Amino acid sequence: MKVIKGIYVLLGSNLEDRGKNLQQAREHIVQQVGSIIRTSGIYETEAWGVLDQPLFYNQVIQIDTDLGHEDLLRALQNIEQKIGKVKVGKWRERLIDIDLLYYGNRLVRTATLTVPHPEIQNRRFTLAPLVELIPNEVHPVLLQSHQKLLAATPDTLEVWLVGSRNRVGGRPEAGDRK
Ligand code: ADP
Ligand code: MG
Repeated sequence: MKVIKGIYVLLGSNLEDRGKNLQQAREHIVQQVGSIIRTSGIYETEAWGVLDQPLFYNQVIQIDTDLGHEDLLRALQNIEQKIGKVKVGKWRERLIDIDLLYYGNRLVRTATLTVPHPEIQNRRFTLAPLVELIPNEVHPVLLQSHQKLLAATPDTLEVWLVGSRNRVGGRPEAGDRK
């Protein structure tokens, strides 16, 4: 079994210039948190939870930092505030959302932080970029690879890699059916 060694963060934006918002988040992370080791492509994704809102841009990045998990969460929330986290309601549109997906293989459950992020397996927009970066690494609680988790997720929302016309799955289209 291939365990997760890195620290992985999910960026999301669905307001104004989404690409610029993700870029600003990456710049703040480099300045205040640590280095960026690897980035997934950017995925355009249907909004999860509340559907009548603009499409998101999502990206997973692997970072390296000296901060422990609590300080890391605080630093990421700080960056959200700086970029301007307009929050209309739960799961509604926002300039930037930064979630901590994995802190290596560590399991955390406090009032303010759950790691691994509890929704990874239920969100195609998180699984698709994780499959790009770490297809064979295994979720430390579910004990399944990201490839397997993506194949098995109940989520049917569409995910597209930006700059390519390939869908990464979601609802079946006419062309997909045989
Ligand atoms: P959303 O669920 O839409 O991402 P927020 O970004 O506002 O909503 O996060 C709500 C709360 O989730 C935060 O106050 C934070 O304490 C908590 N939280 C728990 N686990 C995590 C995690 N792994 N990453 C980010 N936030 C987390
Ligand atoms: Mg969040």
